[in-house]
Amino acid sequence: MELKKPLLGLTLTELQAITQEHSMPTFAAKQIADWIYRKRVTSIEEMSNLSLGDRQKLCEHYEIGAKKYQHLYASVDGTKKYLFATTKGNGIESALIPHENHYTLCVSTQVGCKMGCLFCMTGKQGFQGQLSTNEIINQIYSIDESEQLTNIVYMGMGEPLDNYSETIKSIEIMTADYAYAWSPKRITVSTVGVIPTLIRFLEESKCNLAVSLHSPFDEERLQLMPIQNVYPIKEVIQVLKAQKNQARISFEYILFAGVNDSQKHVNELARLLNGLSAHINLMRFHAIPNSPLKGTSEEKLKEFQSALNKKGIITTIRASRGEDIMAACGLLSTLQKQGSA
Ligand code: SF4
Repeated sequence: MELKKPLLGLTLTELQAITQEHSMPTFAAKQIADWIYRKRVTSIEEMSNLSLGDRQKLCEHYEIGAKKYQHLYASVDGTKKYLFATTKGNGIESALIPHENHYTLCVSTQVGCKMGCLFCMTGKQGFQGQLSTNEIINQIYSIDESEQLTNIVYMGMGEPLDNYSETIKSIEIMTADYAYAWSPKRITVSTVGVIPTLIRFLEESKCNLAVSLHSPFDEERLQLMPIQNVYPIKEVIQVLKAQKNQARISFEYILFAGVNDSQKHVNELARLLNGLSAHINLMRFHAIPNSPLKGTSEEKLKEFQSALNKKGIITTIRASRGEDIMAACGLLSTLQKQGSA
């Protein structure tokens, strides 16, 4: 039996190809997009401005394709972690972070990750596959707060720029008039700096970009992030410096005690980022099992921030959220695989 394909996650161009293939009127593609993304119908039968015949044709091969989450973990601080099953039966995570009057959702783009960052549980899982646009959009569509979301960050499991086509399609759906029509300023894509797709992203997208920096020193960054061997941070910075609209670029810097939190690091960061309108997000480390890395103390974190500020670098200390539900990416799905979540 032919498995029905999901409509959720299809772009207008893809919907137009379907309407053409099934000899439906051209304008039907926009109507279908409207039913799925705006009116949130749960079945094709509800698309009442399509002819009965066209609905029947669609039903033969397609379904809406929204999938409810499998588990929900709620933290005492309001953070929530949603666990979804992929079509291949793997677990992926999305984290909802509430702020005073807005909700940010952190979405995953891959099952596991190839990048192997030392501080990341998803990295330890290895790479198990790409998520489809349907699976990325479904995380946004199927959480309880879907219609209250104000921001999306592509910072969950996986490296978004290593699943470029699906990431870009999901961004199109979030920002295009035929679907959610969000401003790209509400979306941030995080990357370790995969240069070929980073260049494309800077040309093709107006979303914010967050680059995982974590150390300004080559050898040290290599210890933390093996990708440094392929795309050294200095080359990534060169690409960013050549970019006209630098205002949308920020850097992520997790502070590890005794590793990357000294004045030497502040000096080198200032040198490296000189010429960029850089904003650094300083992040507390969510401890992961069996890791020698420890988070920097609060006192040291503040000192580091003030030293960077003295160098003219704007910083924000990111609040640590959801420790009690293991909000660090990859922890829950790893435990679930081991049968203990
Ligand atoms: S931090 Fe991001 S890029 Fe690095 S291993 Fe984890 S998911 Fe992959």
